[in-house]
Amino acid sequence: MQYKYGNYKANDALPKGQYEVDVLIVGAGFTGLTAAREIMRDTPEKTVMAVDATEIGFGASGRNGGFNMTLFGMEPETTVMRWGKSKTQEAQNYMQQAVAYVHDLVERENLDSDYEHTVMWRVAYSESQEKRLKKTYDLLTSLAKPNSYEFYDQSKVREKLNAPQVRAAIFEPETGILDPCKHVRAIKQLAETAGAKIYENTAVVDIRRDSDGTIVKTNQSTIHAKKLILATNAWSHTLAGPKKIRNRQRPAWTYQIVSEPLTEEEWQTLGWQDRMSIEDNRQFVHYLRITKCGRIAIGGGDIAYEYGKEMDKWHDPKIWQALEDHFHWLFPTLKHKKVHYKWGGVVSANFDMVPEIGFIGDENIIYSSGCIGHGVSLTQLNGRLIADLISGIDSDISKFWIVDRKALPMPPGCWFANRRQAGFGHNFTKQLYYC
Ligand SMILES: Cc1cc2nc3c(=O)[nH]c(=O)nc-3n(C[C@H](O)[C@H](O)[C@H](O)COP(=O)(O)OP(=O)(O)OC[C@H]3O[C@@H](n4cnc5c(N)ncnc54)[C@H](O)[C@@H]3O)c2cc1C
Repeated sequence: MQYKYGNYKANDALPKGQYEVDVLIVGAGFTGLTAAREIMRDTPEKTVMAVDATEIGFGASGRNGGFNMTLFGMEPETTVMRWGKSKTQEAQNYMQQAVAYVHDLVERENLDSDYEHTVMWRVAYSESQEKRLKKTYDLLTSLAKPNSYEFYDQSKVREKLNAPQVRAAIFEPETGILDPCKHVRAIKQLAETAGAKIYENTAVVDIRRDSDGTIVKTNQSTIHAKKLILATNAWSHTLAGPKKIRNRQRPAWTYQIVSEPLTEEEWQTLGWQDRMSIEDNRQFVHYLRITKCGRIAIGGGDIAYEYGKEMDKWHDPKIWQALEDHFHWLFPTLKHKKVHYKWGGVVSANFDMVPEIGFIGDENIIYSSGCIGHGVSLTQLNGRLIADLISGIDSDISKFWIVDRKALPMPPGCWFANRRQAGFGHNFTKQLYYC
């Protein structure tokens, strides 16, 4: 399968009319598209429709760092503090399954996602960060299967990367990197091949219940759906309809830059072996990775919140500059390298920073939110999990404790979004390039 960012042609919008479906999915990112495909595979006789307000992958799924990683919620320490060790262990296990699910999908279906099953480093720059990193390492090894992590001291770090600021690293062998835009488009094709109908540029503007499911309105049509999946992630508070969905989460914007390609000599000077992805262990993490075409992508640092009405913080020159400064600080030999691409994306942050899959009223409406910046693997396995919930499959993953958990809603005052300003104006395909 070959996709070109610029040449992507979105599906038509849902034509004017009245429709009846078994399952309607609102939001076509990793969660929605994976759920669509998996439901069709479980029950090909069902009618499954997915709609997206813009293009598939317009949300975080098409513009993330592409780390197929195991981190759940914010930090293992905070998850243990809030949920206890046994639930954190269960979450760790789920995330390891999630990484394997994505890896396996790419290999089995031969997806054109630029996937590399590389390793990941979590790094410390200062003495105090190193102490904290060591504690995190001890905690992670007590939670995960044996051999899931190793600790690298400075001499081991130097063997594999010439970045003088990096003092220590947690090494994790079972992770990967992918090109998010290519990957989400590949999943779209899988979902369509399985029989799901996907409509782009089709925004849902109202949701009501009826005696036999839900009545969902788009700008020009009405859909009666027996089951409804709200996979709108960071936009969930903008949905009209049941109040519960609007107080689950708030949007948070995070930014990324991509360098011009490095020369062979520059790569050699860096000595970046194993093509590992890298994340640091600060509060607002920075993450870095190599792209398939030999650039370095770096993201994270400061974020932008929105407590009010807007969904339009796609550009932040100050944060882009801070990312560029960090890039040059980390790799002094690359001070002359220019930034070729920059963009922003929005993640869904809920009050207790742990993802949530829940029901609204009865089990006919399922929603997913709060995947913060760690949703590449999570949301794809969540798509499988949601398919289990729809089909009534009593699987191990469907019992994962984030399902129907008692999540804290956002405090009043944090969810008064103006639905007409849902911020879909950003030009997606012209903006995002890894290669
Ligand atoms: C810059 C950035 C970097 C990240 N890096 C990583 C990473 O390296 N690793 C990692 O694990 N996670 C990362 N994440 C997080 C990860 O990308 C997300 O958790 C995940 O992609 C969320 O997928 P989703 O399908 O749930 O939501 P989304 O992909 O956000 O999809 C939601 C969709 O809903 C649609 N929608 C909204 N409202 C409506 C409506 N009214 N009608 C119809 N459609 C609607 C939107 O258009 C959108 O396409 C990053 C996120 C960002 C923004």
